[in-house]
Amino acid sequence: MRIAVVGRGLIGSAAARHLTLMGHEVTLIGPSEPTEFATHNGPFGSHYDEGRITRGLDPYPFWSRVSLASISRYRDIEAASGVPFFNEVGAMMSGPADSDYVHSLETVMAGNGVMAERFDGAEIAARFPYFQFPDDTRAYYQPKEAGHISPRNLVRAQGIAATRGGAQIIDAEVLDVRDGVTGAVIKLAGQTLRFDRAIVAAGGFTNKLMDDALPLTVYARTVAMFRVTDAEAARLAWMPSLIHVYPTGEDPYLLPAIKYPDGHHYLKIGGDRVDIELTNDEDMRDWFRSGGSVEVGEMLTDMIRDRMPDLAIQEVVVKPCVTTFTPHNHPIIDMLGNHIAVAVAGCGRGAKNSDELGRLAAEAVMGRTDPDTRVPV
Ligand SMILES: Cc1cc2nc3c(=O)[nH]c(=O)nc-3n(C[C@H](O)[C@H](O)[C@H](O)COP(=O)(O)OP(=O)(O)OC[C@H]3O[C@@H](n4cnc5c(N)ncnc54)[C@H](O)[C@@H]3O)c2cc1C
Repeated sequence: MRIAVVGRGLIGSAAARHLTLMGHEVTLIGPSEPTEFATHNGPFGSHYDEGRITRGLDPYPFWSRVSLASISRYRDIEAASGVPFFNEVGAMMSGPADSDYVHSLETVMAGNGVMAERFDGAEIAARFPYFQFPDDTRAYYQPKEAGHISPRNLVRAQGIAATRGGAQIIDAEVLDVRDGVTGAVIKLAGQTLRFDRAIVAAGGFTNKLMDDALPLTVYARTVAMFRVTDAEAARLAWMPSLIHVYPTGEDPYLLPAIKYPDGHHYLKIGGDRVDIELTNDEDMRDWFRSGGSVEVGEMLTDMIRDRMPDLAIQEVVVKPCVTTFTPHNHPIIDMLGNHIAVAVAGCGRGAKNSDELGRLAAEAVMGRTDPDTRVPV
């Protein structure tokens, strides 16, 4: 079958690879990362970064399941593409010992067979001396098959593996997608392409292409990046990725020192306290062009000083991003018409498991939708 995938992000490029493995003739369409956010007029993606936390640990069974499935294929994707993207430094999740959050983690760990070590109170700082936690904290540390991935390199790896499997790549914005009588009709500037079927995986910009048919909420997000010296990065060499849940329910995430394309190491923290909803395409583009919120950056700086009081920070940089959510807190990966499927909504956690979400999209466009990812009614 001739199948188009719209969106060369994490889920779209994974879907393209899986479709080639299934023997289809695949065309992957979408723009590359913009070189300059402030002057870019096309759509943006949520993967323009070097660090995303990856872990099987999760308080939600669905997200743990799809993450475990993806993580088990990371090394195969690296081998198929020649692009390394996984740094197995481990991941930790923590919160008040007697909280629903920690209890849910424990239930999912037991149900999905996630291997993690438990630390309580002062034991955490004894094992991870750069962290400070409240006394009532319980932490689970997953040392293997967890850590962080480079979302940029994962997208690159999936694209290379898909191309090696026969996929064509078109570096262009899609202007319109229609469910035609005999197939999917895709409009680019200056040309119209026809396919037997199509998957739309355009992240926060998906609803624009689907005439706002999906119950998606897109939020503006700011991350703060903390530049540290190479010596400080070396001191933190085996620091795991961390998500700590406060009694208020806030759950900022923290990535260890990662080397960025400018040659410097940065730690990164995210987890806005205020949700700013972006209701249309132009708001989203404006948000990316704005560079992010300085106020949120200051709140995040307070959070990292609270968690890592000894961290020697050289500079703080803020960056914008968006996250897409659904009412059921699962992605929507389902047919929307006779020839078009959508694969959207990482719910703030769709990088680590994007390979499995892409595989589910390849199944859905063949009419085999996973019951957990249907459009909610
Ligand atoms: C700050 C931040 C931190 C995060 N941290 C984590 C984390 O630690 N762990 C984790 O697992 N997840 C994390 N996530 C979530 C994860 O990055 C997203 O869930 C993931 O990027 C979603 O993948 P996607 O393919 O749906 O969208 P994207 O990665 O955004 O890709 C969508 C693609 O569609 C393209 N596109 C849009 N419109 C069009 C069009 N009209 N025509 C053609 N192409 C189009 C875009 O250019 C883009 O390339 C984080 C997200 C953010 C914002």
